[in-house]
Amino acid sequence: MTLVAVSKTVPAETLVAGVAAGLDLLGENRVQEAEGKRPRVPGARWQLVGPLQSNKVRRALATFEAIQTVDSLALARRIGRQAMEDGRTVPVLLQVNVDRDPAKAGYVPEALIAELPELVAVEGLRVDGLMTVGRLVATAEEARPTFAALRALSDGLRADEPRLGRGLSMGMSDDFEVAVEEGATIVRLGRVLFGERPAA
Ligand SMILES: *Cc1c(COP(=O)(O)O)cnc(C)c1O
Repeated sequence: MTLVAVSKTVPAETLVAGVAAGLDLLGENRVQEAEGKRPRVPGARWQLVGPLQSNKVRRALATFEAIQTVDSLALARRIGRQAMEDGRTVPVLLQVNVDRDPAKAGYVPEALIAELPELVAVEGLRVDGLMTVGRLVATAEEARPTFAALRALSDGLRADEPRLGRGLSMGMSDDFEVAVEEGATIVRLGRVLFGERPAA
């Protein structure tokens, strides 16, 4: 189980204390915010858990060791190209909009099924698995079908495509226990570690 401590809006000083307490993997939603904090938090590794625009790929790869939010072939290829230029392989997750929420980023399942062969063939990437952001629900239990569906999608896809990794990034502060029961390998926790965020 991998814990990504989601540190958006959390000041660098707090993160320094978090790293001293044993958190080493931080997740940020925005390239610029992470760029600003990274030099002030030695010893941390960073992953992008928010949306990535193509024109920020170069900067993103300078800051993040992995990108959890790949949701198009164009973006995958752009990351792969930059990775090759940088002489590295970038671990990524494919973001899935399991709930077909029009307000959410990510592949709807049938679009992912269609593009997966091309996605796993992109040079410079290693596709470690799938990621989803659950719907806002009143109780953690209501999120279970979303997590179960991501797990089932992963199992089905991997039966035909062994190059897709088994990683499942799902579960946040309000529902991570349920996500773990449904097979999460990565949980992304913000508020439960750092407290409530200021209202946006
Ligand atoms: C903010 C955020 C989290 C953490 O949410 P909490 O509810 O604070 O645990 C996890 N994943 C993503 C993509 C986020 O944007």
